[in-house]
Amino acid sequence: MSSPLLEVNGLKTYFPVRGGVFMTATAVCKAVDDVALEVGAGETLGLVGESGCGKSTLGRSIVRLLRPQAGSVVFDGTDLVKLGRRELKGVRRELQMIFQDPADSLNSRHSVAKILEEPYVVHKVGTEKDRKELVHALLAKVGLPETSLDRFPFEFSGGQRQRIGIARAIALDPKLVVCDEPVSALDVSIQSQILNLMLELQKDLGLSYLFISHDLAVVKHVSDRIAIMYLGKIVETAGADDVYERPKHPYTQALIAAIPAPDPTKRSGFQVLEGDVPSPIDPPTGCHFHPRCPHAEDRCRTEVPTLREVAAPGEQAHTVACHFDL
Ligand code: SF4
Repeated sequence: MSSPLLEVNGLKTYFPVRGGVFMTATAVCKAVDDVALEVGAGETLGLVGESGCGKSTLGRSIVRLLRPQAGSVVFDGTDLVKLGRRELKGVRRELQMIFQDPADSLNSRHSVAKILEEPYVVHKVGTEKDRKELVHALLAKVGLPETSLDRFPFEFSGGQRQRIGIARAIALDPKLVVCDEPVSALDVSIQSQILNLMLELQKDLGLSYLFISHDLAVVKHVSDRIAIMYLGKIVETAGADDVYERPKHPYTQALIAAIPAPDPTKRSGFQVLEGDVPSPIDPPTGCHFHPRCPHAEDRCRTEVPTLREVAAPGEQAHTVACHFDL
């Protein structure tokens, strides 16, 4: 990848954990801990991990809904971490977010017409007449009828609401959309409609996606490359097919083992994961995955593994944070 559209390096988003009578900070939750990743123009990077691994916090830190404590988020040549509120407003035209539950992100007291016109009003785009035309075009792009304009979000199904959320996200022709579990709350049949819509829009508008999900099967369907996240850290990155067919990290292998196989005789053979993700307030020492890892050795309890390249020369990049070649 020559020059990535998004380049994240050393990103840390920590939260103080407060307690006691005076609510003093008693601990630190390291939700995102020294993360690096890249997304190219027109590319989809899938970001996968169990609930509580920090992937949503990472997405929100990238679009600066949260303020990271350290690191850089270079988007189209500008480090967003260094920007103030006013400068961020300009960048937000090109960097948008789709949320898991559009019901939470759409103002239930506003009609669809008002919701979709708002980005144009905020960014002072066109006259009132121009904005009406733009809103009509947006509806067509996401496959909603014009009769939707006077209705309110609660009058729509989950899939239709997500179409409204997507329409709002693409209103200002962004370059990158961070999608936080965009289909997790939808029925399976609706999921594929929304995913296909997102793929069509990507092709038509040249969008890049950072696609966050706990579901590796969904992510594989839409991603060019995949990053696997565990307890605030990226533990493996590779091309989508490589992650699926040649996973190197025991955590990735366990996620693949958890995908239901259509033919039970053709299971992956990897060990299914047991137990929950440990707390990021008090993560395990060494490799954070060691209490759940079937391959853990003494070294894993004390030494933190860093991401290292495991692809052969000439192959697509494949990095893994594990002390061993498994
Ligand atoms: Fe498992 Fe050790 Fe590798 Fe961590 S470093 S994934 S504990 S083998």
